[in-house]
Amino acid sequence: MPKVAKTKENLKKCQCRNCPSYTIGCKMKNYPLNFIRMIDGLDNLEHFEGMFCAYGTSNCIEENRGCLCDDCEVFRENNLKRDEYCLPTQKAAFRCRGAQCRA
Ligand code: SF4
Ligand code: SF4
Repeated sequence: MPKVAKTKENLKKCQCRNCPSYTIGCKMKNYPLNFIRMIDGLDNLEHFEGMFCAYGTSNCIEENRGCLCDDCEVFRENNLKRDEYCLPTQKAAFRCRGAQCRA
């Protein structure tokens, strides 16, 4: 897992909220808890349902319906290598870029 900073600035850049894989059901389910978690401070959180390249896989998203990571500033700024960070690698349609496929 790459070390992406858990900051509000990065969260604003994250495209996950606009992604077709992040279904309306998952958004509705997670919105209240995400809001409360944000108040506590993003950097102290172990898990967050968004910015999955920083927090790890989703507890809700299960199907790849497309990924917007390629269009994300965080992706470029952190030289990330794969897509679908919300999904475990065995479920993601893995598109490796370069040698560090698991970064
Ligand atoms: S990690 Fe990619 S596929 Fe998953 S919600 Fe974010 S943009 Fe969509
Ligand atoms: S690279 Fe993907 S998971 Fe990471 S912040 Fe951007 S859209 Fe979100």
